[in-house]
Amino acid sequence: THSDQGVETSNIHNIDETIRPKRLDDFIGHKALRENLKVYIQAALERGQALDHTIFYGNPGLGKTTLAQIMASELGVNLVSTSGPVLERSGDLAAILTNLGKHDILFVDEIHRMPISVEEVLYPAMEDFKLDLVVGQGPAARTVKIDLEPFTLVGATTRIGLLSSPLRDRFGVIQRLEFYTPDELAKIVTRTARILKVKISPDGALEIGKRSRGTPRIANRLLRRVRDFCAVNGAKKLGVEEASQALERMDVDEIGLDYMDRKMLQVLIEFYNGGPVGLKTLATACSEDVRTLEDIYEPYLIQCGFLQRTPRGRIATPKAYLHLKTGLLK
Ligand code: ADP
Repeated sequence: THSDQGVETSNIHNIDETIRPKRLDDFIGHKALRENLKVYIQAALERGQALDHTIFYGNPGLGKTTLAQIMASELGVNLVSTSGPVLERSGDLAAILTNLGKHDILFVDEIHRMPISVEEVLYPAMEDFKLDLVVGQGPAARTVKIDLEPFTLVGATTRIGLLSSPLRDRFGVIQRLEFYTPDELAKIVTRTARILKVKISPDGALEIGKRSRGTPRIANRLLRRVRDFCAVNGAKKLGVEEASQALERMDVDEIGLDYMDRKMLQVLIEFYNGGPVGLKTLATACSEDVRTLEDIYEPYLIQCGFLQRTPRGRIATPKAYLHLKTGLLK
């Protein structure tokens, strides 16, 4: 059966919560980060203090939200979630801050998109757990300090460079999330398959892992789609054959590049002679939005060594020519 987009989104949301790791030990990969967090969490618990403010940065789908949720459950505190673009006025943030309980975690996704007026409310809150409220207007206006419960701010961003330095300096822990290896992704796929009760072979999981662009969210999504193909074809088990066939039909090539990845490289090579070409021009030629290209497609193409960012624009590398010449481009 075909589900329309709206229905699918709500399903994905539910499934997402089911497959999201709840404890630090279920979080796969990023061993050093995991062990550090374990120490910070234990130390905060022993001292009876709030954990240091923490920021996670990296591509979408690498586990930033998951880590914030895990931190809250390991600490046994509430997690309050919001995001930079949602916090339009300083009062929005003030209301959230005054409602936080002792040692709670406030998770702010896309923290680089918070307006500066809102950001300024955060400084004294992060530093001294105080809120400076302006009461009244004009000459009668005065500032009132309100005490907040000690809390931990966990920020997530795809662009650490866009964070103002006063804000960045107030984080005690700054952690980058890297892309995952195919083996780590295979483990994630295996874990998700177990939860979804899908029979999968180790090489089937690895095949999906290899084609997931280093990203757990994509690995889980591909697993669900491959599972659909298996169900329709009556396959008993999801093996390497089933995985490759389904992924091919979904236009995901053997190193995980999808249609837009390849289109970006193709446009760069065929229309612009390999570059350099500005991102805006590239985005227009691909009929895709600049932010999407920059945040989602580009980082992985750069990581694979297919694309270079130069001051004069984007350049396709010889490796990109080679990859497209192998006949994978539709
Ligand atoms: P982000 O906040 O960075 O965009 P999320 O934390 O929402 O990413 O992660 C996306 C999905 O990928 C989650 O639903 C989670 O199930 C899965 N995931 C992310 N990182 C891991 C991991 N290290 N181990 C297992 N699953 C993970």
